[in-house]
Amino acid sequence: MVAERIDGKEFAAGLRSKVAEHVSRLKSDKGLTPGLAVVLVGEDPASQVYVRSKGRQTVEAGMKSFEHKLSDDTSEAELLALIDQLNNDADVHGILVQLPLPKHLNESLVINAIAPEKDVDGFHISNVGRLATGQSAMVPCTPLGCLLLLRDRLGDLSGLNAVVVGRSNIVGKPMAQLLLAKSCTVTVTHSRTRDIEKVCREADILVAAVGRPEMVKGSWIKPGATVIDVGINWIEKPEGGTRLVGDVDYDSASQIAGAITPVPGGVGPMTIACLLANTVTACCRSNGLEAPADLVN
Ligand code: NDP
Repeated sequence: MVAERIDGKEFAAGLRSKVAEHVSRLKSDKGLTPGLAVVLVGEDPASQVYVRSKGRQTVEAGMKSFEHKLSDDTSEAELLALIDQLNNDADVHGILVQLPLPKHLNESLVINAIAPEKDVDGFHISNVGRLATGQSAMVPCTPLGCLLLLRDRLGDLSGLNAVVVGRSNIVGKPMAQLLLAKSCTVTVTHSRTRDIEKVCREADILVAAVGRPEMVKGSWIKPGATVIDVGINWIEKPEGGTRLVGDVDYDSASQIAGAITPVPGGVGPMTIACLLANTVTACCRSNGLEAPADLVN
């Protein structure tokens, strides 16, 4: 069997167009322009690329983009003062602090200083708790993107066995919560899991978010399973230079799975598209409007 390739790039483009339509309607009908503020502290090259890309796509969707680039030696007090200012800025509906932060800054303290209703990354403790308890929440963008791809392919996920490889706060745990909320039977695996290959072979849905290049092999996959590869790993090519691979060994996995996301072009583009969708949701809610039902539900 050769797996169907799940085209996240195309799906994300469709989601971005829907976002742009909603933005245009908010502007014309309500005089509102959703605004996203992105805060970058330091010079991390990967973070700079992400922030540029977020800013560009925000503007392309018709929204306001506010970029705040702070130096590596910014103090916690300075960063918290900026977040306070953004929390109180009516033009800013979403706030994202690009992670990781330099080591001298306390990540949880900073994230929890963001007003929960503007926390479009869904990392504030209140949104984490709301998601875990089934209340309406801002949902982290990468797992949300994975869920949209899964629902697009599989429809109702109820009763399916889902295995999530990785238990980070930004991907693995919220992914597990989202799948549980869709009535999957969820297993979360991590570096201490015994016989992880056997656990993975039980999965109708396998989500890999590990950060280990091509760790999940075809022999770990149940025939016909749907495989979502979150990994972004740059590896050296034998002939020199680097190439991007996921956490799943695509060549062997695509011989066994029913459907699989490629890297690049799978989950990656979904993350920013979901960020834009979350910003529209935040803008609507903060103005007492119903959030659009066709974006991320
Ligand atoms: P973390 O490093 O925070 O977490 C990795 C998880 O994988 C941990 O729970 C760890 O277990 C587990 N793990 C590590 N080694 C093994 C192993 N050998 N067997 C089983 N489990 C293992 O990573 P993130 O969740 O932040 O990211 C995961 C991947 O997703 C990365 O490649 C990252 O670049 C990518 N990513 C992609 C995004 C996108 O937009 N597409 C967004 C965010 C991340 P333990 O807890 O026991 O240490």
